[in-house]
Amino acid sequence: MSSTIPQGTPPPSSCDLAIVGGGIVGLAVARELIQRNPQASVCVLERERDIGTHQTGHNSGVIHAGVYYVPGSLKARLCVEGAREMYEYCEQRGIASERCGKVIVATDASELDRLDELERRGRANGVPGLRRIDAAGIEELEPHARGIAGLHSPETGIADFPGVAHAYAQDILEAGAALSTSCEVLGVDVDGRSLRLSHSHGTTTAGHAVFCAGAWADRLAVAAGADPDPRIVPFRGAYLRLVPQRRELVRSLIYPVPDPSLPFLGVHLTRHIDGDVLIGPTALMAGARDAYQLTTVRRRDLLETLGWPGTWRMLMKWWSTGVTELRHAALRSAFVRAAARYVPELQVADVQPAFAGVRAQALARDGRLVDDFVFSHTERALHVRNAPSPAATSSLAIARHVADEAHRAFGLDT
Ligand SMILES: Cc1cc2nc3c(=O)[nH]c(=O)nc-3n(C[C@H](O)[C@H](O)[C@H](O)COP(=O)(O)OP(=O)(O)OC[C@H]3O[C@@H](n4cnc5c(N)ncnc54)[C@H](O)[C@@H]3O)c2cc1C
Repeated sequence: MSSTIPQGTPPPSSCDLAIVGGGIVGLAVARELIQRNPQASVCVLERERDIGTHQTGHNSGVIHAGVYYVPGSLKARLCVEGAREMYEYCEQRGIASERCGKVIVATDASELDRLDELERRGRANGVPGLRRIDAAGIEELEPHARGIAGLHSPETGIADFPGVAHAYAQDILEAGAALSTSCEVLGVDVDGRSLRLSHSHGTTTAGHAVFCAGAWADRLAVAAGADPDPRIVPFRGAYLRLVPQRRELVRSLIYPVPDPSLPFLGVHLTRHIDGDVLIGPTALMAGARDAYQLTTVRRRDLLETLGWPGTWRMLMKWWSTGVTELRHAALRSAFVRAAARYVPELQVADVQPAFAGVRAQALARDGRLVDDFVFSHTERALHVRNAPSPAATSSLAIARHVADEAHRAFGLDT
């Protein structure tokens, strides 16, 4: 879907509701708030020239079904609801999506207990159609994959998330809201009756604001008076792609059995909605919150990462995992070998570099990698403090949750 977003519309000097961040979450939140408050004046402020250019535009493109998440967590509930709504929305709006299904593959007996636990979680979360499969079942679904046991999730699929973000933006504009790109919010002041957002075009005074700033979420939350815990630490995730003539090695989505303590790690093989087959991502702590190039380092980002006690606590706990990830990032052969564990025919000659994304990882002061979605509020403002994967899948359900929180905290809603 091509962009029809007017570039550089000046931000209003005042509005009832301001949403900071034009990624898939901020746009979904703006859309939901407008639907619930049709009389309110709403604006979205996005610092880049276009919407959806950070995590929304650099990810695996998978509609997760909700297998992994701890039952009762926000992720579990919002992912299962959000996946259903995402398919419906894509269908209504003519956005490319496909229920291609996924297999989670155990390659040795040591992984079977974790596979059992995933199955238990998936059933508790109400993941539709989840079933246990054996080695033959894996081969039937993915003829080039090998494993001793697996889980098949037929409702996991793929979608064009940047297309979804643009469709949300169209909904917002059609409802009469303002969407200002190239508008970086630099400061937040609260005076009891309103919030003053200073940005690259001047100021916007808003009755209330919702901050959905992805990798910059902690910075804006602190500017609005929130606790600095958790801090966002950026992790760069690079992908390889299969050369076109070897794409037949992967039919849909092949995933490893994750370590429950580090569920986002593990090289997976995913068919992208445009036909590409991606392998990755790696997970390497980065020197900038927009480190799409390995060499991008920003002084402030680096100092904030290194100055956070949680960073050092995390590094002490996970240093050996860090070394493995470093090897995957540095040596294509090691990266391919990790993927060949699931698709043994895969060779270095079958791949070429693709793109990289930067994951906004919330890290607690005590070194804990915050797993669940986190929302908090300060005076007149709500903050999406942690919206990692599967937040793209869950965006419509997250938006509903945020609007409910806004109602509870500020009485917003008509
Ligand atoms: C490598 C990778 C793979 C992933 N795979 C999947 C997947 O397969 N499925 C899935 O569901 N999820 C996946 N995710 C997660 C998903 O991409 C994110 O959870 C989701 O995109 C978060 O959306 P967002 O709007 O919160 O953040 P973003 O898309 O990062 O948007 C935040 C926006 O805020 C803007 N902003 C920041 N600061 C300011 C400021 N001061 N003023 C104005 N604007 C500001 C930014 O420019 C940006 O546009 C993946 C993520 C990564 C990194």
